[in-house]
Amino acid sequence: MRDVTKHYTKDGLTVVWKSGLCQHSAICWKGLIEVFDPHKSPWINMEGASRERIIEQVKKCPSGALSYIIKEE
Ligand code: SF4
Repeated sequence: MRDVTKHYTKDGLTVVWKSGLCQHSAICWKGLIEVFDPHKSPWINMEGASRERIIEQVKKCPSGALSYIIKEE
């Protein structure tokens, strides 16, 4: 897969995904399919869960492929 970095933003929360680090462990979509769905495009849907729940799931990514940035108002 091409090594890309994608950003998904909603209400000051940005989820960053780095394809080159992703181990396709499935932890993200098994944990929160409403947000992380590899069969959809874009595959991350920031409308699918609360900000807190998305952050909680991002923290479980074992490879560092997922990270997040919070932009304070
Ligand atoms: S949890 Fe991280 S490493 Fe696993 S599939 Fe999701 S983004 Fe990739």
